[in-house]
Amino acid sequence: MRWGLIGASTIASEWMIDAMRSVGDGEVAAVLSSSAERAGSYADKHDIARGVADLDDLLSDPGIDAVYISTTNEKHFPQAMAAIAAGKHVLCEKPLAMNVADAIAMVRAAESAGLVFATNHHLRNAGSHLAIKQAIEDGRIGKVLSVRVFHAVFLPPHLQGWRINNPGAGGGVIPDIVVHDADTVRFHLEEDPQEVAAMSAASGLGEGVEDSCMSVWKMPSGAMVQTHESFTHKYPGTGFEVHGTEGSIVARNVMTQKPVGEIELVTGAGREILPFSEHNLYARAVAMFCDAVAGKGRPSASGVDGVKSLAVAEAVAEAARSGSRVSVDYGG
Ligand code: NDP
Repeated sequence: MRWGLIGASTIASEWMIDAMRSVGDGEVAAVLSSSAERAGSYADKHDIARGVADLDDLLSDPGIDAVYISTTNEKHFPQAMAAIAAGKHVLCEKPLAMNVADAIAMVRAAESAGLVFATNHHLRNAGSHLAIKQAIEDGRIGKVLSVRVFHAVFLPPHLQGWRINNPGAGGGVIPDIVVHDADTVRFHLEEDPQEVAAMSAASGLGEGVEDSCMSVWKMPSGAMVQTHESFTHKYPGTGFEVHGTEGSIVARNVMTQKPVGEIELVTGAGREILPFSEHNLYARAVAMFCDAVAGKGRPSASGVDGVKSLAVAEAVAEAARSGSRVSVDYGG
């Protein structure tokens, strides 16, 4: 696969460029930045042939098969629409767009053009989450009663930019982390949250955006979900718990980019540590995307998955703003 990077971003440099190069004969052919100087220095630093400052320049390269969009969130929609119009497959960062209507338009445009469109929700690629899902599917915990998600972390200083002070760029912990939690819960329970209640706060980092949020979601099966996201918590560690009629899965340190963590299954028979694969999450997502482009299977998280995680985040934001319970609107 020959990739074009739309966005000279941290996530591309820390994870995605390596992931692209690790799959088959994956090549990163060009990178786009809004600044020509930054495009050039980013290309040099990462050994990318071309750094460009004009989107059409990148999209008109017939050698580029697919683009990876990792600009700030307000740019995803126009850049994805342009890429689709140019016939490129799209792997887009979360949240897909600034609102559900735009996200739906992106996914539909790709579908009409016969192009693969995927969302970069990494957590469902983790060996830990695949093992949790397998245990649920194998009936190890019986009927699921509830899920608790602990995703309150400390935003590293090098990421304390637009996320904490720019609502116009899609800043705030709700667009940043609630979307991942929504995708992970949907992945495990195979159902879509129906209704949410929430509160949010600025607890030390957020300027004009929330940096912390707690919410409760009602699932169609009757299961309840409780989530906590934050940018300001230095020490709690992350976690994901699924409680059922016959057992509980208690996983620690699994809401992360790295293939780490511990999973304990507790049932009437006692306590058991569940083993899991320690593969790279992003490499798996890229490999499944490339397979989908080659006509084999579907991406790990599709465009529709990205629409749905954004719809949950929108409902959480509205519930926190209004103080009322909000039905999740998936846009039909
Ligand atoms: P960054 O802030 O690193 O990058 C976003 C944009 O900011 C870049 O496209 C770049 O603009 C500009 N930028 C970055 N660094 C600099 C700099 N030193 N000087 C000037 N401009 C700079 O964002 P992230 O990589 O953290 O996030 C990008 C996207 O990826 C977001 O949508 C985010 O939600 C998502 N993300 C997803 C993750 C996942 O695991 N799925 C993890 C982290 C982020 P330009 O391209 O114009 O140069």
